[in-house]
Amino acid sequence: MARCIFCQIASGEVAVDLIYHDELIAAFPDNHPIRPGHTMIVSREHFPYFEDLPEATANRILHVGQRLASAMKELYKVPRVAFAFTGGDHPHAHAHVIPMHEKTDLTSRRYILEENLTFRSTPQASPDELAETTAQLRRALG
Ligand SMILES: [Zn+2]
Repeated sequence: MARCIFCQIASGEVAVDLIYHDELIAAFPDNHPIRPGHTMIVSREHFPYFEDLPEATANRILHVGQRLASAMKELYKVPRVAFAFTGGDHPHAHAHVIPMHEKTDLTSRRYILEENLTFRSTPQASPDELAETTAQLRRALG
């Protein structure tokens, strides 16, 4: 079985420009951002779901999410930032930190009145866009 992509990123096997990293976690831009700045924070060690994370790692993810949220409000001029573990796409605990330009940037189908919706992937960001996001947020975290 192929090794988990987030484990490979966290260990440096797959080279990704990191916004933040320490002994417990790594943060990098989502390459299909809902909005510019959309960041993922992963544990360095493999845990399938967020409820499996050791307390110190979970706390660190939340703390760095808070710092990113403050930075994103400044950088992207948004009133709020979403922080979510959705667990829907990849079985390695990862938080999404998303600048909220509109209420629907992160929502539930249950809030939507229309019965028939068509979903699509958000466009893949270019390497230049991802590098800019990384540089901006890395600088903002100091
Ligand atoms: Zn993993």
